[in-house]
Amino acid sequence: MTAEPSTRDPIASIGQHLAALEARVRGACERANRRREEVTVVAVSKLQPASLIRAAYEQGVRDFGENYAQELHAKARELADLEQIRWHFIGHLQRNKAQLVVGQVALIHSVSSTALIDRIDRLAADRGAPQDVLLQLNLSGELAKTGASADTLDALLQHCQRKSHISCVGLMTMPPLTERPADAEPLFARLRELRDERQTRGAAGGTLRHLSMGMSADFDVAIACGATMVRIGSAIFGPRPASE
Ligand SMILES: *Cc1c(COP(=O)(O)O)cnc(C)c1O
Repeated sequence: MTAEPSTRDPIASIGQHLAALEARVRGACERANRRREEVTVVAVSKLQPASLIRAAYEQGVRDFGENYAQELHAKARELADLEQIRWHFIGHLQRNKAQLVVGQVALIHSVSSTALIDRIDRLAADRGAPQDVLLQLNLSGELAKTGASADTLDALLQHCQRKSHISCVGLMTMPPLTERPADAEPLFARLRELRDERQTRGAAGGTLRHLSMGMSADFDVAIACGATMVRIGSAIFGPRPASE
C-alpha cells in the first residue's frame, strides 16, 4: 500500500491541508492586489469532532464556524479551555435557538429577518453586551433557501441601526452548491457592489466592513471579489461525516 497514511488520519492531515490552503489564500490575495491580513479564514467545523477543532487550533487557527446551535453550544463547552478561540455562527438560526448562540460567538453571519434582529438584540441586551452580525443575502433567487432578498437590505440595515445591542458589520452570501466556482463570481461581485453603494452613501454608518463569501470550492474567486472572510470546511478538515 503506497497511499500516504496521513490522508487517512484527519488529525494528521490538518497541518498539510492548512499549509496548502494558506498558499492558495496568499496566491489569491497577491493576484487581487490585496494584503493577506485583509482576509480571515473561518474554519467550518460543522459535524466534525471537537478533537479536529483542537488540532486545528494547535496549528494556529482561531476562527471556527458552526451551523447548528446545539452543536455549537456543546463544542464551545467542550473546548472552553481554548482561550483565544472565536466562534462564528454561519447556519440558519431559528429564533428559539438564538439563546444558545448570542454572546457565545464573535459573529453571526446568517441574519436575514427583522424578527431575528429583534430576538438577538433582546438577548444581547439581557447579557449587557452587543452582538455583531452580518446580514445574509440570497442573490440567486429560488435556488437558495436562506437569506434575505437584496430589496430588503436597506430596511434590515435601518432596523439594526434602531437597536442598541446588535451591530451589523457586513454582508454574507452563499451561492447554490450546484454551481461551478466561476458561476459564483457575479453573485460575489453583486454582494460587494451592494456593500460599496451603502458605504459610499454613508448608510449603516459606514460600518459594513465585512464580506463573508467563498467556500472551499470558490474562495479564490471570492477573494478576487473582495471577501474579507472565507468559510472553509472540507479543504481543512476533509470530507464531513454525514449528518443524521
Ligand atoms: C458548510 C458550509 C461552508 C463550508 O463548506 P466547504 O465546501 O466544506 O468549504 C461554508 N459556509 C456555510 C454557510 C456552510 O454551511
